[in-house]
Amino acid sequence: MKLTVGCHLSTTGGYLAMGKTAKSIDATTFQFFTRNPRGSSRKIPSLTDVEALVRFMEENGIEKPLAHAPYTYNPCAMDEGIRTYTTENMREDLIFLHAIPGAMYNFHPGCHVGAGAEAGIAKTAALLREILPDSANVRITVETMAGKGTEIGRSFEEIRQILDLAENHPNLGVCLDTCHVSDGGYDVAGDLDGVLAEFDRIIGLNRLFAIHLNDSKNPLGAHKDRHEKLGLGYLGEEAFARIVTHPKLRHLPFYLETPNELDGYASEIRLLRRFADNK
Ligand code: FE
Ligand code: FE
Ligand code: ZN
Repeated sequence: MKLTVGCHLSTTGGYLAMGKTAKSIDATTFQFFTRNPRGSSRKIPSLTDVEALVRFMEENGIEKPLAHAPYTYNPCAMDEGIRTYTTENMREDLIFLHAIPGAMYNFHPGCHVGAGAEAGIAKTAALLREILPDSANVRITVETMAGKGTEIGRSFEEIRQILDLAENHPNLGVCLDTCHVSDGGYDVAGDLDGVLAEFDRIIGLNRLFAIHLNDSKNPLGAHKDRHEKLGLGYLGEEAFARIVTHPKLRHLPFYLETPNELDGYASEIRLLRRFADNK
């Protein structure tokens, strides 16, 4: 069975280097931050480097790279300064991604910091309505969140509201993070079919564009968001075998964000490929 799987990689060595690193660990996709995840600085990548990556991806069957927005953005902020900063940077990220065919752009819907989920959801959707006209062929994914602090996107209903208020633009979908949804109270390890049925009823599986594969250091419903290596957390290895081979999920790209160095990612990818090959 074909499995599109990869892990989060650093842009430090440049764009082509990410493609080569992915290939070296038998990854067929990868994720990266569009800029420093905890700052706003951005090393503008050279066009030749990006073009070299695109060529390398074509030649080596690497597809659907997922660009992750940095944590400094807050799309649901009430503060005008933070909103402008977030909107302009997200638009710039999105336009940069036009250069990478098949790229998708994932972001955290934000923290309402006391204004309430409903107000936050409206703000995030308003931001999306502003930037979606510039998405061209880049698909945008709202990440399902663990519900830590004042995070929005903590339930399928909240994600549904964001998509609805952003007029269900065809480029807009969801990245389901297995650690986050388990922390959010959805039993992806114990009742995958039930969770997918609920996702389908509330959001629609046709809106599911990507999966973040992470085990969790905390039990179901903990609202913590601490990723664990596959099999070492509360979800367990078997849960990931079921997830990557599930008939409703196996066509999707899977991205590891587990606490690993490259060799750890390589062995998780080997494990996931074994699950897929046994099907
Ligand atoms: Fe994330
Ligand atoms: Fe994630
Ligand atoms: Zn997380």
